[in-house]
Amino acid sequence: MTAGAYHAQDEAAMSIQFEQVTKRYRGVPVVNGVTLEIRKGEFFVLLGPSGSGKSTLLRGVAGLTGIDHGRIALHGRDVTFLSPRERGVGFVFQHYALFRNMTVADNIEFALRIRNVPAVRRRERRRELLRLVALEGMDERLPSQLSGGQQQRVAVARALAHEPEVLLLDEPFGALDAKIRGELRRTVREVQRRLGTTTLLVTHDQEEAFSLADRIGVMHMGRLLETGQPQQLYRQPATRFVATFLGAANLLLGEATAPGVRLGRAVVYQARPARNDAVAGSEVVTVVRPEDIEVTRQRHALASSCMGEGVVAEAAFGGGGERLLVQVHAAANLQPATRQEPGLHPGLPSGACLLEVTRTAAESMALPLAAGDAVAVGLRRLHVLPTPVSSFLLRASTAQAVAALRQSPLVAQLAGSTQANLAEVIAAGQPAGAMFHGAGVVVVDNTDRTPADVAALLLHGARRLLCVPPAAALPRRVIIHCPDEALQAEAMGLVASLAGHINAEVSFVSVVPRGAPGAERAQALRRLLDTRAVVRASHGFDLRTEVLEGEAGEQLRSLASTPEPVLLAMSIGGDRREVETALARDVGWLFAPGTRSSLLLSYSGPRPAALAGVL
Ligand code: ADP
Ligand code: MG
Repeated sequence: MTAGAYHAQDEAAMSIQFEQVTKRYRGVPVVNGVTLEIRKGEFFVLLGPSGSGKSTLLRGVAGLTGIDHGRIALHGRDVTFLSPRERGVGFVFQHYALFRNMTVADNIEFALRIRNVPAVRRRERRRELLRLVALEGMDERLPSQLSGGQQQRVAVARALAHEPEVLLLDEPFGALDAKIRGELRRTVREVQRRLGTTTLLVTHDQEEAFSLADRIGVMHMGRLLETGQPQQLYRQPATRFVATFLGAANLLLGEATAPGVRLGRAVVYQARPARNDAVAGSEVVTVVRPEDIEVTRQRHALASSCMGEGVVAEAAFGGGGERLLVQVHAAANLQPATRQEPGLHPGLPSGACLLEVTRTAAESMALPLAAGDAVAVGLRRLHVLPTPVSSFLLRASTAQAVAALRQSPLVAQLAGSTQANLAEVIAAGQPAGAMFHGAGVVVVDNTDRTPADVAALLLHGARRLLCVPPAAALPRRVIIHCPDEALQAEAMGLVASLAGHINAEVSFVSVVPRGAPGAERAQALRRLLDTRAVVRASHGFDLRTEVLEGEAGEQLRSLASTPEPVLLAMSIGGDRREVETALARDVGWLFAPGTRSSLLLSYSGPRPAALAGVL
């Protein structure tokens, strides 16, 4: 069999394919580079907060909204430019769109009538469907004579009448009360299983997603951040956003060490390395689910690794379980990875860390606890996020300059959206020693700086450096440039982690010399496409690719000379001189006083420990 035949077979097994789908409103991408394949018969749930672009994407499949970029295929057939009628999909909206003046029977038969299906066959199909959604005998009722739940059942039956290959449901249970919602969910799941109709459902309700989905895709700011089976996403999320959106999570800063992850004074061993690119001493973000924390009266009674001691701040009965808020003493040195709102817990002593803990009813009965009780806290399980963005460190020479950085649109957006800690350093002059070793993303102002200044920061341990012109508006485009292939992976991880927090479109460019032979161009393009595939597989993130001709510096500068600011991302390695030369050559123009473009650098040169001789 040829590779082409395999491809055709793959396509046939796919029911819905999105390829780099982008939709903009007033220049802002509300669906941004979404690439996703949904298998035949799969129940796929798109989950995300309100405004994340779920409905727009769904309407794109139905053909109710055109898209600005990319391609949508149903069963291997490109439908990007087809009308809704030609796509063969059934659609159910949140607000029952039944025809108010038609009976249930006429509503259900509508799609069949416009397709000239004979009356006998229509009646048969209607009976079948009403049985399926448990509304037998309701044929002659008008929508006004039905409850909300019943109306939604009719809407589901109506959407299925013409036997669509794909069923699209947009928050179909949103307006119903909890009990009816549960019943309708079960019905939809059952009908879907029985008919094997590929189903794409949109919801903002995490519990609903868990109860229905074969797979979940989480959307945030127009991007599909992660997809996976419910349990996998819950236990091993890749991003802060997914970790916290899918349920309660304690996010703690840790440090990658050879034997495991250090959380405060405790070292927690784990089978897998903390993170592929985490060098020893790197700061990492860990996710600790409330049910993975053990509490006992005494430290020696813990069955899991001890994280420290503390006191119960709050205990709340929750029916089948119990929710505790435990204040871990400062001595444990636990560091939250999310900014703590100052006013939220006014009584919290400085250095103490609040942890959310859930216990089963059996656990609470075995060890009743109330506010004020002293406890030892153990950790049964933790998950290390693969994100390279653990925190931000703003560095400038004066307090005003630090404040300007903090208030710059890009930093404010990233800090607000990631909720990561922001630390500040006021320092004039050159950095010293390995002062940034282990830090998260170091942020500086790039206006009026030289490539030599930037090289010095990198060589002093700032492996991730964001240079921001404080006055510039939010970037609308991210351009990635990785001249050295070996350094690409880290840069991609960094971009993937940050780009999900800004409404910008991302492209990956390669620059070949002017007049380069066709073979060289083709190779550059192939490399870009390979990288695109790798980035998709490891970060769930799709990129546009572009091969340009000329000198990198000149090409990047021209790409960045659009009216709206650009964020340029680059990987860089080598010793001080090499770094300085590369910066001056490719992005020297970015340091001019009036620049509006930002620069994100991922540095993987010599480690700070080995620098003593170099500097
Ligand atoms: P969700 O379904 O996840 O709540 P939507 O897809 O409805 O999100 O909307 C995504 C974003 O696009 C929102 O910011 C919304 O305001 C915007 N949007 C949706 N439709 C339009 C439109 N017709 N014109 C302008 N903006 C729109
Ligand atoms: Mg919506």
